[in-house]
This record gives sequence, C-alpha cells and structure tokens, in this order.
Amino acid sequence: MDETNIQYSIVVPLYNEELVIKETYKRLKKVMETTGEAYEIIFVNDGSKDRTLEMVKDICNKDKNIKLISFSKNFGHQIAITAGMNNSNGKAAIVIDADLQDPPEIILKMIEKWKEGYDVVYGKRLSRRGETFFKKVTAKAFYRTLRVMTDVDIPVDTGDFRLIDRKVCEALKRVPERNRYVRGIISWLGFKQTGVEFAREERFAGETKYPLKKMIKFASDAIISFSYKPLRLAIIIGFSISIFSFLYLIVIVFKKLFVNDAIHGWTSIVALSLFFNGLVLIMLGIIGEYIGRIYDEVKGRPLYIIDEKVGF
Ligand code: UDP
Ligand code: MG
Repeated sequence: MDETNIQYSIVVPLYNEELVIKETYKRLKKVMETTGEAYEIIFVNDGSKDRTLEMVKDICNKDKNIKLISFSKNFGHQIAITAGMNNSNGKAAIVIDADLQDPPEIILKMIEKWKEGYDVVYGKRLSRRGETFFKKVTAKAFYRTLRVMTDVDIPVDTGDFRLIDRKVCEALKRVPERNRYVRGIISWLGFKQTGVEFAREERFAGETKYPLKKMIKFASDAIISFSYKPLRLAIIIGFSISIFSFLYLIVIVFKKLFVNDAIHGWTSIVALSLFFNGLVLIMLGIIGEYIGRIYDEVKGRPLYIIDEKVGF
C-alpha cells in the first residue's frame, strides 16, 4: 500500500490482551471499512507475556491494513501509544484502548468533527461501566486535582481515546519528555480542540492492566510534569510555620523571663519534633520526585526499544 495515501491510523496499545485482541480487530475493521477510505491499524505490543504477539502476527499475515510494533519489554501504556503515533502515516491518528471500553463506533463521530476542521477530538467519558467504585472515585478526584494543580487546560474525564491531526502528530514528536502524560502534552500543544461524549463500556474480557502501582505512577507523572505547585507547597507551609513559631516564641520567652510560668514538658517537645521531621521528609520526598525525573531526562535514554516491526 502507498503509505502516503493512508487517511486514518488507528493506534492500539496491547499488554497481555490475548482475550480481547480478536474481537477488537473485528470491531475496528468493521467500523473502519464503513469510512470507505484507506486506513492502517497499528498494534503496539508492550512486552506482553501471553499469546498477544503471536495472535497479532497472525492477523498481520492475513490483513495488509494491520501493522505491528513490538517492544523489547513492557515500557508502559503512555510510551506504547507514543510509539504508535510516531510510526503512523495517516492524515489523522486515533488512539484507542484494546479492551473495547472505548467503543470503536465513536471513531466515526471523531472523524466527522475532524472533517469539520478540528485538529484534536477527544472522547469525554460521560459514565464508566463495570469499573470498581474505587477506580471511579480515584479517577474523578485525580482529574479534578490535576485541574486545580496545573495552568494547562486539560479537559476533565478524558482519556487517551482521541483523534489527532497529522500536524499535531508531528508536533508531538518534538516533545521528547520521558515520564509522559500524553493527553496533557496534547492539550499543551494547543491547536483547535473539541470533544465527543460517550459512555465508557465494560472491559470486553480479562482484567485491568493498570494496577494501583501503575495508577500512582501515572497520576504523579501527570501532576509533576504539568505543575510546580507541590514544590510551592513547601514555601507556603514553611513561611506559615515560621511566622507562627516566631510569634509563639515571643510569648514563651516573655513568660519565662517575666511571669516565671514556663511549661516544662518532654511530651510536647517530642510531639513537635516528630511532626516537623515528618513534614520535612515529605517535602524532601516531593523535591526528590522532581529530581528523579530530571535525572531521567538528563540520561537521555530512548523512550522505547523496538524488538520487531511487521507490515511497515
Ligand atoms: N496497556 C499497555 N501497557 C501497560 C498497561 C496497559 O499497553 O503497561 C494497554 C492495555 O493493553 C489497554 C490500555 O493500555 O489497551 C488500557 O489499559 P487498561 O484497559 O487495562 O486500563 P484501564 O481501562 O483499566 O484504566
Ligand atoms: Mg480498560
């Protein structure tokens, strides 16, 4: 196929998705065929340990519209979609999860908006089905905290399910940061953006590939790459405590010298000391999170390592 004629590139990250891959392929193909335009589906195998890789290769052999990028190990969801977009050729690229939580049919609505002239069309989740109470609450809290924390206008309740124009894709390539929060970077890039609303479905099969540990890493990457506010917190708390302590110091020195009424106590001193040591360590930890990410950038390692590519 002539790569320059491809209209749409669908990017699908895969981590241990052997249970869903066939169905996802079928649904995506069905939707894309209705456009009547040339498309490619790029599956990015993010170091799966199950049969995902073999299954995608099978599909690639039978269908020329399907391409595969396979990583040498698990690099994470955000890196996987980055690799997919970097290798896409379409005039628009669409990122979608493999588990069919994002209904492929919505892609057609995104394409409509794109044809109206929007450069970024994101999916906005009206509801989330089949997700735990914990996931829903933490997700809601996360998007709202992020909104308060950052100056970049990142729309709430949107995931990575979105369509981006070729020029946005090219701009994204110029943002090489490592601990990536892709949807935030896309907001930061600017361009004409809009959303289409949809109801998030239940996972078709299998379990979430985002355990709590990955969720925490994801949330802290988002906040730290888009906000200095956690660092500023140290200054604000520090100043407040210093001012308060100084006033209190005047009171107790006065009492000691003139009223002879000093409180003698071991408990209060130990309590205060433990409290403030805790506070100082938390602040050091926050600074550490930033420094760790600076260190990652300085090392300048590649974002991902590709083991093999099929269909390109
Ligand atoms: N995924 C990935 N690498 C990872 C974790 C997840 O490529 O390390 C993919 C996964 O296969 C799926 C998408 O990212 O296509 C979203 O993951 P999942 O549906 O498990 O997350 P959730 O919807 O539960 O937040
Ligand atoms: Mg999912």
